Amino acid sequence: MTELINDLYYEGEPIADTKAPAGPLEKKWEQRKFDAKLVNPTNRRRMHVIMVGTGLAGASAAASLGEMGYRVSAFFYQDSARRAHSIAAQGGINAAKNYRNDNDSTFRLFYDTVKGGDYRARESNVYRLAEVSSAIIDQCVAQGVPFAREYGGLLDNRSFGGVQVSRTFYARGQTGQQLLIGAYQALERQVAAGTVTSYARHEMVELIVVDGRARGIIARDMVTGKLETHLADAVVLASGGYGNVFFLSTNAMGCNATAIWRAHRKGAYFANPCYTQIHPTCIPQSGAYQSKLTLMSESLRNDGRIWVPKNAEDCEKDPREIPEEDRDYYLERIYPAFGNLVPRDIASRQAKNVCDEGRGVGPKVEGERRGVYLDFSEAIERLGAAAVAERYGNLFDMYKQITGEDPYQVPMRIYPAVHYTMGGLWVDYDLQSTIPGLFVTGEANFSDHGANRLGASALMQGLADGYFVLPNTINDYLAGAPFEDVSESPEVAAAQQQVTERIDTLMSINGTRSVDSFHKELGTIMWEKCGMERTEERLKEAIAEIRALREEFWRNVKVPGSASDLNQSLEKAGRVADFLELGELMCIDALHRRESCGGHFRAESQTEEGEALRHDDEFAYVGAWEWGGDGQAPTLHREDLVYEFVEMKQRSYK
Ligand SMILES: Cc1cc2nc3c(=O)[nH]c(=O)nc-3n(C[C@H](O)[C@H](O)[C@H](O)COP(=O)(O)OP(=O)(O)OC[C@H]3O[C@@H](n4cnc5c(N)ncnc54)[C@H](O)[C@@H]3O)c2cc1C
Repeated sequence: MTELINDLYYEGEPIADTKAPAGPLEKKWEQRKFDAKLVNPTNRRRMHVIMVGTGLAGASAAASLGEMGYRVSAFFYQDSARRAHSIAAQGGINAAKNYRNDNDSTFRLFYDTVKGGDYRARESNVYRLAEVSSAIIDQCVAQGVPFAREYGGLLDNRSFGGVQVSRTFYARGQTGQQLLIGAYQALERQVAAGTVTSYARHEMVELIVVDGRARGIIARDMVTGKLETHLADAVVLASGGYGNVFFLSTNAMGCNATAIWRAHRKGAYFANPCYTQIHPTCIPQSGAYQSKLTLMSESLRNDGRIWVPKNAEDCEKDPREIPEEDRDYYLERIYPAFGNLVPRDIASRQAKNVCDEGRGVGPKVEGERRGVYLDFSEAIERLGAAAVAERYGNLFDMYKQITGEDPYQVPMRIYPAVHYTMGGLWVDYDLQSTIPGLFVTGEANFSDHGANRLGASALMQGLADGYFVLPNTINDYLAGAPFEDVSESPEVAAAQQQVTERIDTLMSINGTRSVDSFHKELGTIMWEKCGMERTEERLKEAIAEIRALREEFWRNVKVPGSASDLNQSLEKAGRVADFLELGELMCIDALHRRESCGGHFRAESQTEEGEALRHDDEFAYVGAWEWGGDGQAPTLHREDLVYEFVEMKQRSYK
């Protein structure tokens, strides 16, 4: 280990091997599947896998492993597996089927994803994702997922940001819900068949590692408060993203980082924690009291046109009274080739820029107008209100219910909000973390999206991982199972002890501040200083502020009620405690990466036109962080990104 760098972190050994086979890109996955050891079907029922999470990534994986004959225990904190946050996904799921005959291909989806991620994703994984994308659609259609169809009965497609083809399959504005119902019914089939056991209202609060392998979890029964120890041959985390570290986000209120953070503390590297996606089309915040933001699907950018008044003095006017010549369709003006369909990071930053110029619209919140128009009047004129309703009706209804304004009559108002986290636990080509036997799928891993995810690619990734990748790679590990009984091992007892002590401490502090007030303050620091735009100075401030806040949390938090009962404050307290550690790591990661790339915009690194400026010579790597211990600095391990099949270029959507 070297000396402490900038008083913040150590430089560790680089990551040498991602386990991706050598050879041509299009042969890698086939080769890996062939090389991976197999498990005889009759042996599979002796092997036990723990699945944490039943969103699209977890439900698809649990159902697949169950179908293959493994014994699976599936944990989730909702009352039903089908209430996982994946249900909220609106716009669609990508696949390179080329139904529109617009020259789409596996390679183009791969290329778009690598470019969209600003050349910070691993080529081998992204190609595999594009390769299995078509099979996902076939699988879901076979399950009965009601994708939108054209008049002739064929599956319909629409476009999403950052691409010039139509490859997004959708079910109105409810794609996630319909896909999750498909995965859920496959899961329930296995529950009925006895291969999968469901643990509803159970929260994983610790990972059990014995002799260097992941061997189980400690879960808290959220209804009774009872702590349970579950052991297995392998553990899969499919626990979703950590956008709620910002307090306000489009994520469901329960989304949290506890499962992956506990695993990180036990040795799993955390990759690119600062890569956060800020989505450009959310309903603007309406007041300081708010605890949740609502997404308006990116699909709306297919037909809606984004603009602000050219003149700041028009910002208070009724938008319908502002004539065409006084409107600035700024995305169409700056990026004529992609227009309103530029990638999310670019659309978000430009919305911030026009608002910073004083041309934001809508009511002032804390003295500022933070909103831009998303206008459907031209689309309604061109297509008719009925056709627009057919495509986006439920989104329009949702907008009206929340804002009281009718988007058929007046332009919607939108503003960027935290939406997705590209960072997550580091995984190799097999989706295995740095802890043997711990696999990570879906948004919980650092994923295939580099520094910026393209729209409709998260659902694709979650289902690729769950239906096709993990079921083929986990065999290789389980071929050595079943492993010896570890129920009496000291590591298990130590993990039980740690959890009990942590809960006891949280319950006994009895301070004066609510858990939510800490979460809100952390969120404000993160949004202001590690949000859409980051600077060295402000990131340093954020680190100091988070440390002070964490110190106060452990001294002054108040958790009412009892630990042996349903206690939402206690649940939140555990999650916020983890966010307080993760937030600091995000800022350290953002600070050390002195470049702009995708969702990570460092103000010190921009072109003359204000676009993100990468520094490939210094930063073309995945930053994978190793936990250093309480109060200790983390260690950075770099996985160099080598581009053999795509040429790294400065992104341009003009
Ligand atoms: C509003 C919205 C709209 C979106 N629209 C789209 C879209 O149109 N297209 C697209 O591609 N992507 C979209 N996304 C992104 C996409 O929905 C998510 O990235 C994806 O659904 C994540 O799936 P997942 O299975 O990884 O995690 P989740 O669906 O978040 O599931 C997490 C699971 O883990 C469980 N869990 C978590 N922690 C614990 C714990 N400690 N113990 C036990 N269980 C735990 C939860 O109970 C849950 O079952 C959208 C996101 C949002 C917020």
